[in-house]
Amino acid sequence: MFIIFIGAPGSGKGTQAKTLASALGVVHVPCGDLFRTAVEQGTELGRVAQEYMDRGELVPDEVTIGMIMERLSAPDTQRGVILDGFPRTVEQARALERAMDSHGGRVDLAVYLKVPNRVLMERLSGRLLCRRCQATYHQVFWPPHVADQCDFCGGELYQRRDDRAETSERRLEVYFGNTLPVVDFYRERGLLVEVNGDQYVENVRADLLTLIRQRAPRV
Ligand code: AMP
Repeated sequence: MFIIFIGAPGSGKGTQAKTLASALGVVHVPCGDLFRTAVEQGTELGRVAQEYMDRGELVPDEVTIGMIMERLSAPDTQRGVILDGFPRTVEQARALERAMDSHGGRVDLAVYLKVPNRVLMERLSGRLLCRRCQATYHQVFWPPHVADQCDFCGGELYQRRDDRAETSERRLEVYFGNTLPVVDFYRERGLLVEVNGDQYVENVRADLLTLIRQRAPRV
């Protein structure tokens, strides 16, 4: 099973992709987290990625495609994959299609999580992340029980550098310019399903599970 998650920054795709992958017993492959790990580890890939991430720009296609293809070649992906945050350009979508074709695989479904712009900005500006387990909070909508501390693991909460207002705005522009065409790419192939992401997390998850079971019966 191979499912792609597409959504703007702040749409909740990371949260949904992660819980869905564990519910379905498949591997969650979050493109942004792979870059953040490379940054933390101080690798050459991380150094290159950070320059772009700090500006709210996309990391160049050749770098991103190389990293994702390597991750997808690991044996654990045989169980199935939820690909989160990739492809974000039509060029990335084409590269994935070529790679899948050459291995006799295919994308089962592309999920597009739709959220109005105003809500995206509100979510990004208050978002907090746990340094240890990556759980997500919001300063106003979903605050932790104890300030700056993760409810699940006690880890320290922080604001992503690229969630600051100017960078968030740029990320949304980049999303509308580069990533919305990817939605059309999968729509043309009859693989797209749209989900309303402007609801409680549990309701989005329930809608997703229903749609995936209808549209990807291999699940
Ligand atoms: P995310 O955690 O998904 O919001 O991604 C954080 C940042 O990582 C983005 O703003 C980009 O700079 C970079 N990034 C993540 N996924 C991709 C991708 N598929 N292509 C290019 N850059 C990406």
